[in-house]
Amino acid sequence: MSEFCIIGSGISGSTIANLLNKKYSVILFDKARGPGGRASFKRIKGKTGFDHGTQYISPKTKEFKKFTKNLIKKKILKVWNGKHVFLNSKKKEDKKHLKIIGKNGNNDISKYLLKKINCNYHSELKKIYYKNKLWYLLFDDGKMRSFKNLILTCPFPQLKKLSNKSIKMDANITTMIAIKKSKNSNSSYLFEDPILGWAGNENSKKRFKSKYDLWTLQSTFDWANKKINKNKNNKKENSKIMIDKFFKLSKIKKTKIYYSLNHGWRYSSNSRPLKIKSYWDSRKRLGVCADWFVGPRLESGWISAQDLFKKILK
Ligand SMILES: Cc1cc2nc3c(=O)[nH]c(=O)nc-3n(C[C@H](O)[C@H](O)[C@H](O)COP(=O)(O)OP(=O)(O)OC[C@H]3O[C@@H](n4cnc5c(N)ncnc54)[C@H](O)[C@@H]3O)c2cc1C
Repeated sequence: MSEFCIIGSGISGSTIANLLNKKYSVILFDKARGPGGRASFKRIKGKTGFDHGTQYISPKTKEFKKFTKNLIKKKILKVWNGKHVFLNSKKKEDKKHLKIIGKNGNNDISKYLLKKINCNYHSELKKIYYKNKLWYLLFDDGKMRSFKNLILTCPFPQLKKLSNKSIKMDANITTMIAIKKSKNSNSSYLFEDPILGWAGNENSKKRFKSKYDLWTLQSTFDWANKKINKNKNNKKENSKIMIDKFFKLSKIKKTKIYYSLNHGWRYSSNSRPLKIKSYWDSRKRLGVCADWFVGPRLESGWISAQDLFKKILK
């Protein structure tokens, strides 16, 4: 029996799994098809695809800077060069701001950290209970598994289904499009608009060659918070609004849309951090680490997992 069971293969789950695996036996479960969580890569064909969650990493802390620098050296990550157009007067542009991406997709960090871990995908945790010093987990395949130590890393509202406290997480609507090739070679746009917040040019990441231009469009939180409940039924309409905005704001000539896919992120991020960076109950052997303890970025999940590891070792 594995000593630690980890739920979630995003940055938080993969980081804590990697750290614990140096000392203990670890098993990981995720309901998704593969690793990465909200830093997922939507593969279309071969290496072609969209980073439809995390757009890039811009390390803030000394420790995370060191970690990402090492992964750049190992060719897991790389710097996303090119012209990043900043059109938002409400935010201050930091010219030194590095944009780091995965060599093949933004789930590359999780893939790297989970290389030696026993990972089980398509496995959704449905219920948890604690009895006689063991955690009993019921998965969607109907199997009940038991573990001495349990680590949860889900977005808070997903965790809430399993527990009962409250944190609000913002939504995001992402539209991925393939359009006719244009002369515009900008890498990204940060907009000042009530609907469209960001557009990233996937071709500029130099991971693939395509006869189309691939753009990932991400909405503002405010707009997504209003639209997310009905997005499933209004995908076409919401994508059209975002695409029209994109052509208007980027001044790229309107072209035929060859491919379009809408993904609604109900739980995108939490910009109001908690007072603790992670949670560890040493008596019941239950841990929680996730970005929402610390902040809205991928780095927040990494910090939370590092914090939990220190608590477990104490
Ligand atoms: C649209 C969008 C854009 C973003 N842009 C950026 C950006 O540019 N830069 C940046 O730094 N951050 C960005 N973020 C935030 C970043 O993606 C997150 O902070 C980070 O990925 C969180 O990692 P995590 O491991 O804490 O959670 P997650 O990545 O959400 O991992 C949780 C995992 O748990 C799994 N799970 C949940 N419930 C269950 C269950 N019951 N059973 C089994 N598995 C379960 C999920 O499938 C998931 O894989 C963005 C997020 C979104 C959604």
